[in-house]
Amino acid sequence: MTRNERSLETLLAQGARFLDRETGAVVPPIHSATTYARDDRYETTGYTYSRDANPTVAHVEEVLAELEGAEDALLFSSGMAAVATFFDSLGAGDHVVAPRVMYHGAADLLRRLAERRGVEVGFFDASEPGALEAAVRPGRTSVVWVETCVNPTWDVIDVRAAAGVARDAGAILGVDATATPPVTLRALDLGADIVFHSATKYLGGHSDLLAGVLATRRADERWEEIKAARTRMGGVLGAFEAWLLLRGMRTLHLRYERQAANALAIARHFEGRPGIEAVLYPGLESHPGHEIAKRQTGGSFGAMLSLLVEGGAEAAKRVATRTRLFVPATSLGGVESLIEHRATVEGPHSAVPANLLRLSVGIERADELIADLEQALA
Ligand SMILES: *Cc1c(COP(=O)(O)O)cnc(C)c1O
Repeated sequence: MTRNERSLETLLAQGARFLDRETGAVVPPIHSATTYARDDRYETTGYTYSRDANPTVAHVEEVLAELEGAEDALLFSSGMAAVATFFDSLGAGDHVVAPRVMYHGAADLLRRLAERRGVEVGFFDASEPGALEAAVRPGRTSVVWVETCVNPTWDVIDVRAAAGVARDAGAILGVDATATPPVTLRALDLGADIVFHSATKYLGGHSDLLAGVLATRRADERWEEIKAARTRMGGVLGAFEAWLLLRGMRTLHLRYERQAANALAIARHFEGRPGIEAVLYPGLESHPGHEIAKRQTGGSFGAMLSLLVEGGAEAAKRVATRTRLFVPATSLGGVESLIEHRATVEGPHSAVPANLLRLSVGIERADELIADLEQALA
């Protein structure tokens, strides 16, 4: 079997089948060296200094590239280090289009690029059909940035359609696919040029490491520029974190399947319940993005959902202080369930409803998670 004939599940389980020829070790070593010796002809081994490249990190990047069907992948010290490096090449005259409700850290970065560097940013409403087409400027827009489903309202963006809009406008499409790891959606297959994940979330999966990844359809000039910017700005991932990320990734498919099943059970249980104004989850047939999500994720709707609680911000916050299993903490994608009052965390710029509670569903038992939310709502 060639590498490309392996299923993603087998690739993940085997961690790209590392085998050390000398020792037989089945797990890659952690290369902690920062510098690499030249040989007696003063040639390098390919490695010179770990801010350029590191063998442990490179191994995990290869696995990620194969997972995404990418020509190349790069790891960063956090998701935001990856996003900031991606947008670093933009300056005055560049026009970027992004969703109005999106990951707040990336939205803050775009606002700052607009204020400090003269990048023009057009925000569009992901819940409104046709809004993306209206926001791009053919011949002017250089980057269209979308999320596969926008955090934290989980409006679904049709990645294939967005790729068409970007292409017609002469722009590239960058996709934040953090909420939908490659076992459920491969953005490059759907026409994206660059896919991004906060690997802190599902890829790592255990809330114990920060990492970000960019993967590209083509290792072109723009990609080489991103690579050079990573070395220049230094937002590289440490070898230990890369090793820990690979360890986490080996169970990604199992974790994600269980998490998505739990989320669906919770969403179905609370839809229509008195005291709950709405359940925002693409897996519910009532969700406006249900059909698109079904098509582009192969029928798994993910493990993120939000509840709109009757009684406004105060009522929502009260629920978040009363859960016993759901941990009142930010972040997502870990094996443990988290609950968060999003407007509090995002602060004054937040476009999120004040009564919204975001749930990141873990691998616990669904009936116990439901009972926990019930007692917190009572
Ligand atoms: C967490 C997150 C990020 C930022 O990643 P960090 O690893 O926290 O820097 C970006 N986008 C989404 C959707 C996220 O959830």
